[in-house]
Amino acid sequence: MKLAVIGKDVSASRSPAMHTFLLSKMGQTCSYEAVSIPPERFAAEAPALFSRFDAFNVTIPFKGEIMPHLARICGDAEVFGAVNTVDARTRTGYNTDGQGFMLMLENAGVQVAGTRVVVLGAGGAGRSCIYKLAEAGAHVFVYERSAERLASVARELGNFTPLGTVLPETYDVIFNCTGIGMHDTVGKTPSVRTPRGELPVGEELLRLCGTAVDLIYEPRQSEFLRIAASLGKKTINGDAMLFYQAYYSDCIYLNRTPSADEAKAFYRQYSGGNV
Ligand code: NAP
Repeated sequence: MKLAVIGKDVSASRSPAMHTFLLSKMGQTCSYEAVSIPPERFAAEAPALFSRFDAFNVTIPFKGEIMPHLARICGDAEVFGAVNTVDARTRTGYNTDGQGFMLMLENAGVQVAGTRVVVLGAGGAGRSCIYKLAEAGAHVFVYERSAERLASVARELGNFTPLGTVLPETYDVIFNCTGIGMHDTVGKTPSVRTPRGELPVGEELLRLCGTAVDLIYEPRQSEFLRIAASLGKKTINGDAMLFYQAYYSDCIYLNRTPSADEAKAFYRQYSGGNV
């Protein structure tokens, strides 16, 4: 198969290595390219992707922009209004971020049904997490610094409690979906700075939470997770989510029935047994 990841700058993307590993485990050989496209060129260059590749993954900032080029949008992609997986042969778009997110939680032993959870950031990834957490039966509180965006996401999903401000209160799990603390935080404004890094909330809130989850996978331990770990909290980074969303994409490409046990076994092998 001829595959690719498409984004604004995917020169350092982990996707080629991850998908090549996964597809070889599934008995397939593939070529997997990283294709960076400047945003102002995307509309002109998108049509050619469909003849150049059998399927491709889509990342920042094209998860919405790809949608007008598709004939069909399925499942979570329709709900989230964002596509991360395209079968170019059928021009169908999917979104596997939410499935990857839930499998990451399951495999880390985090049960969310009936718990109080707080999500920081209601951007692309935050929206899929909010939706999946509410669907799984969590009572979801969401803080997003743009009141306008928070109101529009509340209208769109309508299954969470919006927070105008984030106060130190008790939550079973806190999720950082803001991107604050990533290796490249250009354009992001941290709420809190420490001598070692940046994070979206202060220590007083982290102290009151049971588990801290950061969708960031680079660095592996963000400042948010470092402080949470220093307070004795269970911490989870975004590495497994990234792997699992890739696993679900490849199952779509191969028309293969996904299995959580298989995904977990592959992740253990991919990580050299360090999970
Ligand atoms: P995004 O669309 O830019 O969303 C980030 C959201 O957080 C924006 O709404 C942003 O508002 C808001 N925000 C920024 N600073 C905040 C603060 N201090 N307090 C509250 N809200 C704040 O980005 P994204 O695509 O959702 O990605 C978010 C993070 O998830 C990134 O680190 C990305 O790498 C990670 N991610 C990981 C995976 C994985 O597989 N592990 C998958 C997808 C995404 P403004 O627009 O006002 O800045």
